[in-house]
Amino acid sequence: MDDSDFEKMGKPKPGEWLYHFHERGQSFDDYKAAHPPRPTASRRVVVLQPVGPFSSLERTILGKATEFAGIWFDLPTRIEPSLPLPESGWDRIRRFSWLEQPVKQYKTGYFLTRLLPGGFPADAVCYLAITMVDLYPEESWNFVFGQASLSQRVGVYSMARYFPQFWGQKESPDTYYLALRRSCKVLAHEVGHIFGLAHCVYYRCAMSGSNSLEESDRRPLHLCPICLKKLQWNRGFDTIKRYEGLREFLKNQDLKEEATWIDLRLKRLWSNPLNHRKGSENPKRR
Ligand SMILES: [Zn+2]
Ligand SMILES: [Zn+2]
Repeated sequence: MDDSDFEKMGKPKPGEWLYHFHERGQSFDDYKAAHPPRPTASRRVVVLQPVGPFSSLERTILGKATEFAGIWFDLPTRIEPSLPLPESGWDRIRRFSWLEQPVKQYKTGYFLTRLLPGGFPADAVCYLAITMVDLYPEESWNFVFGQASLSQRVGVYSMARYFPQFWGQKESPDTYYLALRRSCKVLAHEVGHIFGLAHCVYYRCAMSGSNSLEESDRRPLHLCPICLKKLQWNRGFDTIKRYEGLREFLKNQDLKEEATWIDLRLKRLWSNPLNHRKGSENPKRR
């Protein structure tokens, strides 16, 4: 297998996900054998549910990330009209050393048990709440980026920590691109879990686990050959066309580093005649 454009995972360092969680990995054969969920003709929309207030910038980024996820999974997407946060009983106040003002956090249980299951749209393959408030799963936890119920295909994810305000920093063009990158990454990764992709232990990959924001920032915005093979098997897309679609989006959004990686990857695929003859990155579904 040609994997020259991918970085091997290597030995995990203290602090990194795989140093603390000894995951054994999921091969392509493991994936197929697990009978992962697949979209059907009538249930194929990735539905996002904003909850609570969004600024216009945050709303723009959510829209772009949703568009990105549509290309990544080759599926239609929809953003539902916003729903309000619960008025009481599901929040707590936290103080963080880097912020003058206290932060209100909301418990993930509200989204996962109250809000989402009842509202699951008939055409949705998954239904994910997105919020700009910080989250926690239970009292003993400091915070959580998100939580999902894979069997119910619902989840809730906070984008609060992707933006500079949360860290007491000012907005700049760089922080816009960082927030956009992070938002694209979280949808690619989390919807990937809904489709049964486990954490990648083979390469630095969009499906690699992450223990911190720094570690997710280091995670690339592409799938390694093994995870791509799983997703391609699930979705049956044309790998080259998908790469071209992602590249166009990334170029339009000025995410240059990621667009350049796809350029190189496509050049390599085209320069290897084996890829055309055998379609090694694009096996036909049987
Ligand atoms: Zn994960
Ligand atoms: Zn991978």
